[in-house]
Parts: sequence; C-alpha cells; structure tokens
Amino acid sequence: MYVDSHCHLSFPDLADRIGEIRAAMAAAAVDRALCICTTLEEFEQVHRLATDHDNFWCSVGVHPDNEDVLEPTVEDLLTRAGRPRVVAIGETGLDYYRLGDRSVADMAWQRERFRVHIRAARASALPLVIHTRSASADTLAILGEEGGGEARGVFHCFTETAEVARAALELGFHISFSGILTFKAAAELREVAAFVPLDRCLIETDSPYLAPVPHRGKTNTPAYVPWVAAKLAEVKGLSVETIAEATSRNFERLFSKTAIDSATIS
Ligand SMILES: [Zn+2]
Ligand SMILES: [Zn+2]
Repeated sequence: MYVDSHCHLSFPDLADRIGEIRAAMAAAAVDRALCICTTLEEFEQVHRLATDHDNFWCSVGVHPDNEDVLEPTVEDLLTRAGRPRVVAIGETGLDYYRLGDRSVADMAWQRERFRVHIRAARASALPLVIHTRSASADTLAILGEEGGGEARGVFHCFTETAEVARAALELGFHISFSGILTFKAAAELREVAAFVPLDRCLIETDSPYLAPVPHRGKTNTPAYVPWVAAKLAEVKGLSVETIAEATSRNFERLFSKTAIDSATIS
C-alpha cells in the first residue's frame, strides 16, 4: 500500500537487519522501497538489495556530502544505470550546510558533480533524485543551465521554501516529504505540503535518519513511512488511503523503467 521512495538500507545501522526490516515493512503495509546509492563504492551493495528482493529498486549516484570518494563520470553512471532494477540517478545535488571554513566558491566540485549527474539522467532518461540543502538557488540555476527541465525527478526530503517548491514544480519535478513533516517546528514545510499538487507528491523515510514522530530520535526504517503519509493526509485534509494510493501511483509513474523503456521506443 505504501512506498518508501528514499532509504539507505546499505548503511551500517540497517544493513545487518534486512530480514527484520522487511518483516516490519510487511506488517506496516509498506510494500515497496527505493534504495538510494551515495557512492560508487557502495553501488554493488545497494544494487544487490534490489536484485535480491523483488520489491526493492535502486539508484546510482554520488551524494554531495561525500568528498573523499570516487568521482563519477557520465559514463560511470550510465554503465551502472543500464543494469537491471536501477531506476534513478542520484542522490545528487548541492549541500552548502556544512561549509565549515570554506566558501560557496570552494564547492565548485559539488556543482560539477551535479552537472555530471544531470547529463547522465538526460542521457539515460532516468529520473534524478535531488538533494539540496542551503543551496536551492544554485541547485535551480544549474538544473536550468543543464536542461534539467527535460530530465524528470524529485526534490527529496524537501525542507525548502514555497518559492523553491514552486520552481521545482515548474521544472516538472516531484516533491518528496520525509519525517520532518511530522516535526513540531516544521509549520512552514506543512504549508508547502498543503499546496503541492497530489500528483506530484512522494513520501520517504531517508532511513536511517529522520524518524517521524512518534519515533523521532530512533533509527528510522521504511516501516515508518505511514507516519509521513498520515501527516500529509492531515495537512491536505484527505484520507491516508488517498495519500497512500496517490504517492504509490506517482512512484510507479516516475520510477518505472519499463514505462520509460516503452516510451523511448515509441
Ligand atoms: Zn539527501
Ligand atoms: Zn538520502
């Protein structure tokens, strides 16, 4: 019934607990999940989750926070994107949150890496999974410069303003809400969630981080995504069944490699 559109089941907190997590997912009616890749080094492990389990899929990409890792070329991404059950490019994007003593100018490597991912998404016709934190202006500018509007995708774990949401929607992107939507201080985000059209909404956990209320502070797993759906339902004044159905349909439409393949052929 529910789909977790973004989780990190290869991370140490979760990788040893896949059986237990899958049982909890089944008990919570969470029937599918997208396992997100954050380094090329990690890709084989993430991909194995998707090939070992018929209700998991995966992405290929290098997260903007990862510095001392293999730097991907467009070709590196495309060869992996061509493998079975790889349905997205990312997560990718910009993160200026932890600049430390560096300036935005010092983050040119992040912006170049983001461009590489956009080019791979356009070349493969796979959707982009975008991570943006404290960097929305540059994220939108680079998407525009690289023809990102011709790519499809999602702004994941959305925490930006209404203006950024509108710009992302105008580019044709989806918006994904995480457990942050349930946090007491996230009133502004709930206002954003209220106006994002239902056919552009996704839900996610970003496990193992950001467990939703009432599990806040614990290790998150995809089994908690119904709490995100319930909050989105409350914000939109809709039933949780309506939210579950719509976000699952949106997930299928955005990440269905079969649909993409047939669309490319025709
Ligand atoms: Zn992220
Ligand atoms: Zn993530």
